[in-house]
Amino acid sequence: MHLCRICANASGRMISIFEGEGAQHDLINKILKYLPIHVCTVTISDTLPLQLCERCANVLMAWHELNEGCLNAQRKLLEMQDSHLRNKQEVKNI
Ligand SMILES: [Zn+2]
Repeated sequence: MHLCRICANASGRMISIFEGEGAQHDLINKILKYLPIHVCTVTISDTLPLQLCERCANVLMAWHELNEGCLNAQRKLLEMQDSHLRNKQEVKNI
């Protein structure tokens, strides 16, 4: 089956979940983290397609970036809030 595991279409370039580019981008862990499907890491025991279409792979990568980005942003915002509160406190103590 040369269909995409996520959308079940066979459009455009397909990217293997476990090989080459897919392995480089760690697609398996992104699928397991963000999607409600279970892709077996032992390829032989998974009978469903083990590749993604380029579109789904890009959406998955973009979602991952959003996830990482919001965690970084939250860290930054908390730091800003902390230093703001600290400054206020220092002003009060003078
Ligand atoms: Zn797809």
